[in-house]
Amino acid sequence: MQHFFTTLAPFTKTRLILSLWYSLILLLILIAFSIVLIVTYNSDVARIVLQQDFGSHFPRTLSQTELRLIAAQVRELRHTAFLDIIVIDIITLFIGAVLSYFLAGKTLSPIQKNMISQKYFVADASHELKSPITTIQTMCEVALRSKTRTKEEYKKVLEQVFDESQRLGRLVTDLLSLSVLDTGSSDTFKFLKLSTLVGKKLSAMEAQFKKANIMLERSISPNVILYADADKVEQLLIILLDNAIKFTPKGGKVMVNLNNKAQTQLIVEDTGIGIASEDRENIFKRFYQVEKSHSVTGAGLGLAIAQSIMQLHHGRITVTSTLGKGSRFTCIFPKNAFRKKRINKISL
Ligand code: ADP
Repeated sequence: MQHFFTTLAPFTKTRLILSLWYSLILLLILIAFSIVLIVTYNSDVARIVLQQDFGSHFPRTLSQTELRLIAAQVRELRHTAFLDIIVIDIITLFIGAVLSYFLAGKTLSPIQKNMISQKYFVADASHELKSPITTIQTMCEVALRSKTRTKEEYKKVLEQVFDESQRLGRLVTDLLSLSVLDTGSSDTFKFLKLSTLVGKKLSAMEAQFKKANIMLERSISPNVILYADADKVEQLLIILLDNAIKFTPKGGKVMVNLNNKAQTQLIVEDTGIGIASEDRENIFKRFYQVEKSHSVTGAGLGLAIAQSIMQLHHGRITVTSTLGKGSRFTCIFPKNAFRKKRINKISL
């Protein structure tokens, strides 16, 4: 038995063990009910037989033959009832075991999905971490072996090592962000003026847009208040703006819109390369990158972080895009229930 369980896949094993526990509980309940049933029936059976055979004439003095007849009848009835109960118990236990197996599968399914995605995540993360480390090691090894290198060549190696270590640093920061977001803590939430936050960030990034020769347009509603984590919302904006710069060719345009109509909406739209429909549903997955964009910096974690940030704020992020024309990312924050009540108490 021990060997049988150890050879099974961990989830099949857990499912079987869980089903066995469910079935065991059912068996105990069945045994308890059956005992109560048998005891009650046993005490009633003689009375039932006597009433059946003699009706209202009972009680009266019975002859020896009648007593033997009644005793045989009682024994037979008890025997049949006992067999019936056992058969019903076996059938119930069998159905219960099948249902338990099904129920155990249902219970374990989300945990299993979670574990599988964690497994893939760790594999992807290790792969992404390994590649810059390998590059750094190879470059250092080659540089150390060669005795005839010039000062400029060493400088070039150091620059490459620096670039790779920066990539490594970004990746580790992204992984940490995701793990913090996975905890789903909203302890750092406070009321903040989103209009000011977005305005400040756009001003701070103006130089980046200029350098990339991309025009930045903004339309920001004043006095948009949000109950949120300021650092995370800023991180979300940086991710979307960084991507817009990365995937918009020179001479393009990026429009940022913050409005507070039915809901609070933050929109980042660009006139970049766009995203094909088959990629659109995958870009929010961890480590997903569109094939053509592999050469651009990034590990495919930006939009996964953006989505986690929106989930933390009970909002959502959507994308619409036309290949070759541009993309539009919309972040929708739900209306805040306590905003109206506490808005006067906020110091902004
Ligand atoms: P990365 O950090 O590699 O950019 P993201 O998760 O931010 O990863 O994005 C995933 C993929 O989505 C990118 O590889 C890119 O192909 C695509 N993408 C994201 N933003 C845009 C955009 N504004 N325009 C076109 N493609 C985009």
